[in-house]
Amino acid sequence: MLVVQKYGGTSVADADRIRHVAGRVIKRVRAGDQVVVVVSAMGNSTDDLLDLALQVAPDPDARELDMLLSTGEQVSVALVAMALKNLGQEAVGLTGQQAGIIAQGRHYQGRISRVEADRVRAELAAGRVPVVAGYWGVNEDQEIFTLGRGASDTTAVALAIALGAGRCENCKDVEGVYTADPRIVPTARKLKDISYEEMLELATQGSTVMHNRAVELASVYNVPILVTSSMVEAPGTLIRGEADLEERNRVRGIAHDSDVAKITIRRVPDQPGIAANIFEPLAEAGVSVDTIVQNSSEGNLTDLTFTLARKDLRKAESLMPAICETVGAPEFTSDANLGKVSIVGVGIQTAHGYAARMFRALFDAGINIELISTSEIRLTCIISADSVHDAVRALHTAFELETAVTG
Ligand code: ASP
Ligand code: MG
Repeated sequence: MLVVQKYGGTSVADADRIRHVAGRVIKRVRAGDQVVVVVSAMGNSTDDLLDLALQVAPDPDARELDMLLSTGEQVSVALVAMALKNLGQEAVGLTGQQAGIIAQGRHYQGRISRVEADRVRAELAAGRVPVVAGYWGVNEDQEIFTLGRGASDTTAVALAIALGAGRCENCKDVEGVYTADPRIVPTARKLKDISYEEMLELATQGSTVMHNRAVELASVYNVPILVTSSMVEAPGTLIRGEADLEERNRVRGIAHDSDVAKITIRRVPDQPGIAANIFEPLAEAGVSVDTIVQNSSEGNLTDLTFTLARKDLRKAESLMPAICETVGAPEFTSDANLGKVSIVGVGIQTAHGYAARMFRALFDAGINIELISTSEIRLTCIISADSVHDAVRALHTAFELETAVTG
């Protein structure tokens, strides 16, 4: 089988771990598989580079930021390839550019437009293990675009699709996908499998196990992803089209995110075009907005609230006076200390009682709900940041996730 194995920053954090990864890859090759390796930058080195950039420029130029951040992955690529060769395995380190990862969009927020995989294919055919830099690609002018924090997963899935790989393996410092973060809920259980849509919701709502765009891409092309440990031999979690359809708890997992802010625009005259006038400038500035709630209007005035990542709050606040003026709203307020907690599972919308049970559990834990948002397979409550962990524990218990049959 042809497999793309992605190793995250923690799995290549030091020389010992890099040698361990090399040994693991070689084992796989000896077992008869063809392996393409994708790596992230070592440990927290992307954060360190970002820090450095902020020391020379408070608002670093995005093009040069991509120039800088892309070096992190190149370091691990070189080291993993060296370690493989040292153990007698033919290998070749490839940058995002050499591996044909074609990207476009904005700097620091690039998107993969396609993969020109000829070079990678040729290396495989020659018996070498390609070790590819995750997280970035180049456009037609050979300009570097990083793909968003955590996006090495997306590089790996895109390569798996381009190569027609049997599956993508995300090798991590955790053993798989759990019913909730095991650091918060010690009784959380590892899932045997999970569907793309459930994983996508978990990832989008704060689970850091997989990058959400990687899951989205895999689901479009139906590439299975195995989330597995790079450190210990243990069965992982398979993300795929159809998860086990046995009778099971409809709540598959709980996601949380302690990094939420909100802005409320007060007394906006309720007329056509206000939403566009509010959200277009934010989008242009690269601020992504999450939940949006518009109250029903009273006397033709309405309140409009939206949430965003805390790191984007300053930027959004700086745009608000102009936005308020355009839409004729007298004021806005903001809150930087929110979080969210979500229950996710196919079928929760059609089964009754899940919403009530969620709200009751939060109430019993003394947690106030600020906003509620839903999708077909998710229910999310926005709450104060400091009650997020309590909320996760309360919901894990309320939905009996420690004991339920979840496959
Ligand atoms: N090194 C990049 C980051 O830390 C990409 C990744 O880890 O996937 O965001
Ligand atoms: Mg990283």
